[in-house]
Amino acid sequence: MTQSGRPLFATMNGEIVPFDQAKISIMAPGLTFAVLVFEGLRGYWNRDEQELFVFRVPEHLDRLAFSNKVIEIEGVPDKVEFKRQMLELIRACEAREDCYIRIQSYIDDWGAMAARTPVGSSIICRARGRVAAFTDGVHFCVSSWRRNEDDASPSRIKASANYLNSRLAGLEAKRLGFDASVILNRDGTVSEGPGGCIFIMRDGEWITPPVTAGILESVTRQTLIEISGDVGPKVIARNIDRTELYLAEEAFYCGTGQEIVPILSFDRKMVGSGHPGPQTRRLQDHYDAVVRGRIERYRSWLTPVWEKGETL
Ligand code: PMP
Repeated sequence: MTQSGRPLFATMNGEIVPFDQAKISIMAPGLTFAVLVFEGLRGYWNRDEQELFVFRVPEHLDRLAFSNKVIEIEGVPDKVEFKRQMLELIRACEAREDCYIRIQSYIDDWGAMAARTPVGSSIICRARGRVAAFTDGVHFCVSSWRRNEDDASPSRIKASANYLNSRLAGLEAKRLGFDASVILNRDGTVSEGPGGCIFIMRDGEWITPPVTAGILESVTRQTLIEISGDVGPKVIARNIDRTELYLAEEAFYCGTGQEIVPILSFDRKMVGSGHPGPQTRRLQDHYDAVVRGRIERYRSWLTPVWEKGETL
């Protein structure tokens, strides 16, 4: 794998091809009408074991199947086949470092908005280290854009269409000099950020919006709900008002790509001391240990790619 550049290979419709040959048609409904759903997964390199672990594969593939079901993309590989193709590609790419895997399914070639065929799928695996913000933290604003709602363009599915809303919020945040933004839903409570979930600490408790607040049902969020009690307070899922962001003692933004990124301020109002909080740091360390296979009881969440990964 090349650290900064493009990978050498991709999987297109089940076949490994040179990366530059992995193309879809300019007439694809997947492109023009956003008839495309996807998943992003992370592979974590464990140096001591010389093993790459892909984190929570079944959960990601279940969500992909659900996204396909909602927008009626039928005939895509099943979970076993997508997993097989993914591991085959990771091995072809010789991935022995932290990496990011994207699996997409879409309607390809020529067709109208409601076309059902031809169905296409692709997988890429590229090197991706930890983001600098993991250490440094970020500054958030509250976006003037509202989250796309479940009865319009459901945020519960990981559809490319939803990322237009995320893009608008992201562009606004950058224009105003912030790193990213919190997007409120129609009820005016916190949904999520452009590409990740929001957690705040208030009165010593972790709080995150419920799955009905207009969020993607994040694998990272669910993981943190399951592991937070090991090293600190457990997580409460409930609506968060805008002004509660300003009361937060600690806060972070999380997702597969960014992992856990401390939020230092909302709308220029400092979160706690304005530095990454101690509980956030504790969760970051614990999460890192979990995803790299250093905690025995969570090893079942990991899919090994090399020595032990031959059996599917
Ligand atoms: N919300 C949105 C809008 C996202 O794009 C992501 C990243 N996939 C998340 C939340 C976090 O989800 P996950 O933890 O499953 O990556």
